[in-house]
Amino acid sequence: MTQTAETKACNVCGLTVAIHMEAWCNTCGLLYHLNQRADLPGDDCGQVWINEEHLGLEFACDTCLNPVPAGLDDVLDTGEAAQVAGIAESALIELAAIGRVKHRRTGSGTLLFRRGDILDFSQGRR
Ligand SMILES: [Zn+2]
Ligand SMILES: [Zn+2]
Repeated sequence: MTQTAETKACNVCGLTVAIHMEAWCNTCGLLYHLNQRADLPGDDCGQVWINEEHLGLEFACDTCLNPVPAGLDDVLDTGEAAQVAGIAESALIELAAIGRVKHRRTGSGTLLFRRGDILDFSQGRR
């Protein structure tokens, strides 16, 4: 994927951002979807609110609003989670895609799982 001045991609979902949807996160400085036109359709990938102290607008993308939990021991990538669950990695990805396993998708598209959710899942399996 090549980036040009015409096609700017959202840092959260990776899709192209239309002019009326452009917003830059105050935390990471990256572009994300924020619909600023009530008359046009568009899904937000972040939020904007008024800072009561400075009376200025504050922007934050979903990636910064929902950071990956700090307890890294508890967070597994697809390979680790598949091992814990005792199933193939591809099977785990399929189960996540249909919502059978709780998971989280990062801005770059990586799937993350919590150890507890994976253990719950493998115990619930017959
Ligand atoms: Zn987006
Ligand atoms: Zn951000």
